[in-house]
Amino acid sequence: MNLDDYRGILVFAEQREGEIQNVGLELLGKAKELASEINEEVTAILLGYQVEHLSKELISYGADKVVVVDEEELKFYDTEAYAQAFSSVIKDKKSEIVLVGATTIGRDLGPRVSARVVTGLTADCTKLEISEERELLMTRPAFGGNLMATIICPDHRPQMSTVRPGVMQKFSKDEARTGEVEKFDVEFDKSKMKVKIIEIIKEEKEKIDITEANVLISGGRGVGSADNFKKLEGLAEEIGGTVSASRAIIDSGWIDHDRQVGQTGKTVRPDIYFALGISGAIQHVAGMEESEYIIAINKDKGAPIFNISDLGIVGDVSKIVPMITEEIKLLKS
Ligand code: FAD
Repeated sequence: MNLDDYRGILVFAEQREGEIQNVGLELLGKAKELASEINEEVTAILLGYQVEHLSKELISYGADKVVVVDEEELKFYDTEAYAQAFSSVIKDKKSEIVLVGATTIGRDLGPRVSARVVTGLTADCTKLEISEERELLMTRPAFGGNLMATIICPDHRPQMSTVRPGVMQKFSKDEARTGEVEKFDVEFDKSKMKVKIIEIIKEEKEKIDITEANVLISGGRGVGSADNFKKLEGLAEEIGGTVSASRAIIDSGWIDHDRQVGQTGKTVRPDIYFALGISGAIQHVAGMEESEYIIAINKDKGAPIFNISDLGIVGDVSKIVPMITEEIKLLKS
C-alpha cells in the first residue's frame, strides 16, 4: 500500500428521514480544521434515497465536496447496503481520513466498513490532531476514562475514527459557501443483502427534558444494578422529581442518552440535585455544579462529589434511598 496515494478527508453525513444528524455537521467542522493543516479537501458522503438536496446544507457547514449515493436500496438504514455503498466510495476516492459519528448507525457501520477496506478504526475519539509526520492522532479514553490513549494507524489507509455526538464543534453555517456535488453509482451485490425491511414502527417515547426539572434524582455506577436504578423512580415520584444519570449508567444502557448529565450530556440547574453513587468526575460536575442545592450519597467519604455538595451522606445508596423514600411517604400521609 502506497500511503501517499490516499488523500483528503471523508465525513459520513448521517441522515435520518432526510434530516442530517448534528454529529455529521460537527465532524465536518473538525475535518475542516484538520484539512487546513494538511492542505486537503473535506468531502461529505451522503447515503440515502431522495436526499441529494441535503448536499447544500453539508457545503454550508464546511464540506468542499459532497459525494451522494442516492438509491432506493438506501431508503432505510440497512447495514449491508450502507456498508457496500460506503466502502465503494472509500475505495474509489482513496480517502486519507474517514470520520464517522458514534451513533447507533455509525457504531454499526464504521467497524464493518473499516474491515472491508482493510484498515483499523479507533472508536469514541475525544480528540483528533495531525502529527508532524502527517498522521492522524486519535485520542480516546481508556481503562474506564482513567487515562487517555493516543492511537495511530501507521500502515494502512484510510485512518478511521468514530466520535460521539456533542464532542466536536460545528463550523458556523455559511450559506454562501459553494462546493461540488458528485452523484456516485454503486453496483449493489444484492445476493449479500439478507434483510428486507417491511415496516418501521417507532417506539413512542414520552420526551422528558431534564434541563426543565426542578428536582433531579441522578444515579451513578454506585447504584449497583439496573433493578436498583429503577428504584430511583420511586423516590422521584414521591418528591416530584425526574431521574437523570451519569454517563456510566447511559453506557450500561439503563436509561436513555437524553437523561445524561455532564460535558457530553446536558447541563442542568435544578433547585435540588441528588447525586446518588456518583463519584463526581470533572465531566459530570461540569453539567450540574450550578444546581441550587446538591445532596450527595456515596460510600466513599473521599469521593470528589462531596467537594461540591451542600449535604453529603456517607453510606450505601441502596440502603439509604429506600429509607428516604419511605420517610417521605410517611411525611405525606
Ligand atoms: P464511578 O466514577 O465509577 O463512581 C461510582 C461512585 O459510586 C464511586 O464514587 C463509589 O464510591 C460510589 N459507590 C459505589 N458503590 C456505592 C454504594 N453502594 N453506595 C454509595 N456509593 C457507592 N460522565 C458523565 O457523567 N457525564 C458526561 O457528560 C461525561 N462526559 C465525558 C466526556 C469525556 C470526554 C470523558 C473522557 C468522560 C466523560 N464522562 C462523563 C465520564 C466520567 O469521566 C466518569 O467516568 C463518569 O462520570 C463516572 O460515572 P459515575 O460517577 O457514575 O461512576
